[in-house]
Amino acid sequence: MEYDVVIGLEVHSELKTKSKVFCSCKNEFKGEPNTHCCPVCIGLPGALPIPNKEAVKMTIKAGLAVGSKINDIAIFERKNYFYPDLAKAYQISQAVRPICIGGGVEIENAQGQKKFIRLNRIHLEEDAGKLIHNSKIGGTMIDYNRGGVPLIEIVSEPDMSSAEEAVAYLSKLRNILQYIEVSDCKMEQGSLRCDVNISLKPKGSNELGVRAEMKNLNSFRSVARAIEYEIKRQSRLLDEGEQVVQETRRWDDARNRSFSMRRKEDAQDYRYFPDPDLLPFRIERSLVDEVKSTMPKLRDEKIEYYVNELGLSEYDAKVLTNDLNLVKYFDKVVSYFNKPKFICNFILTTVLKKVKENEESDDLDIPIDPQNFANLMQMYESGKISQAICRDLFDEIWLNNADCQKLVEERGLAQNNNEDEIKSMLQELINEFPQSVQDYKSGNAKALSFFIGQLMKRTQGKANAQIASKLIKEMLD
Ligand code: ADP
Ligand code: MG
Ligand code: ZN
Repeated sequence: MEYDVVIGLEVHSELKTKSKVFCSCKNEFKGEPNTHCCPVCIGLPGALPIPNKEAVKMTIKAGLAVGSKINDIAIFERKNYFYPDLAKAYQISQAVRPICIGGGVEIENAQGQKKFIRLNRIHLEEDAGKLIHNSKIGGTMIDYNRGGVPLIEIVSEPDMSSAEEAVAYLSKLRNILQYIEVSDCKMEQGSLRCDVNISLKPKGSNELGVRAEMKNLNSFRSVARAIEYEIKRQSRLLDEGEQVVQETRRWDDARNRSFSMRRKEDAQDYRYFPDPDLLPFRIERSLVDEVKSTMPKLRDEKIEYYVNELGLSEYDAKVLTNDLNLVKYFDKVVSYFNKPKFICNFILTTVLKKVKENEESDDLDIPIDPQNFANLMQMYESGKISQAICRDLFDEIWLNNADCQKLVEERGLAQNNNEDEIKSMLQELINEFPQSVQDYKSGNAKALSFFIGQLMKRTQGKANAQIASKLIKEMLD
């Protein structure tokens, strides 16, 4: 039978506030285990939570960025369940009165078709601690540093219908959250994670099928693969006249399949009730307006700026702005060396290729200091170093961030732009390889690159290739 695929995503994103959401402990990814903890965030009896205003503001900011309505009264509720990483045996979350309601984002597929994905809500809650399974000691250790870190949950309506759309949606959300500076969105470190809900229904049917949920996917690739797998699994079941059960499944990326974890609980199983320690709170219009006034430029405006002010092509601007880390890096480099088009070309080719080679993850980190990178670009652009040397240096400083100007001085890597010297080296080669001269004369243009190759070999890439190409032609013709 033919089926429609129905997908809804719950995206969790850690907010980058200074302190945790209900206490004043540091909100920091690094740090020795269990050093950012206090009676509140490890849930000792009698400890009282106090909401972090900054976290509330960031949630409002996220809501405004995706067109949500901001509720005038919001309520924190207890979501009760036991798990070792949740010391209180309940998570402070929001159910009936989240901070943000509705909204949506527009996605675009590879063919440029647009689709609007509606949001159900965005609510603020606390993250749980982290369990670290350790086979050496044959047990599990626990780190409560993450417990109480502010987390927003962005719940979509079931509006997506393919892996491609889900990935486009997640990527768009990440982009927005990065631009408004509420989250680092590092998927590898877990500051952006995603639960995928997926069901099938007979083609054209209006009734939703039973869904399976896969929790805590932390890369675009695993989201896509988990969806593809689930579509196959569920359609096989339905084809055979069996039923899909509502359950939580664990995605195993290494084995490329999902496993049943537990029957899915319903909302009532959590016994949500308003947290008696936290009163319902009013969100004043003035606070919303204040947040609105801090809204930074979003991606589209940045693209416009790059195209109109810096002269980049629309395509280049789009690639560059896809990740805010890249935008920041590029802006910094350009502030040191004002040749945006030149720098952009190098980044979009050589740098991004390198990132892809090196990174399993979707997080973009360029290990070269921007000033150092700007110096490299400057030496290359001005002809002080050749393209070949530039590439070699780039590979090297990617690993150690050594000062590229110093390397050029110490090793004498400056490009040789001296026509007379290049000419006499070429003359030597012509004398040495009469056969290649013959080849060229009998119409084999490739013989020219043979001479350039030899010249580069002898000069360790330091001869100016442009000058050499011009000269060798003149000399042989
Ligand atoms: P829970 O927290 O119990 O998973 P939520 O309502 O918070 O429930 O989130 C449910 C998510 O699942 C939403 O993103 C929603 O769009 C999606 N969803 C709901 N029903 C279906 C369905 N039949 N098929 C696919 N996705 C669904
Ligand atoms: Mg869920
Ligand atoms: Zn604390």
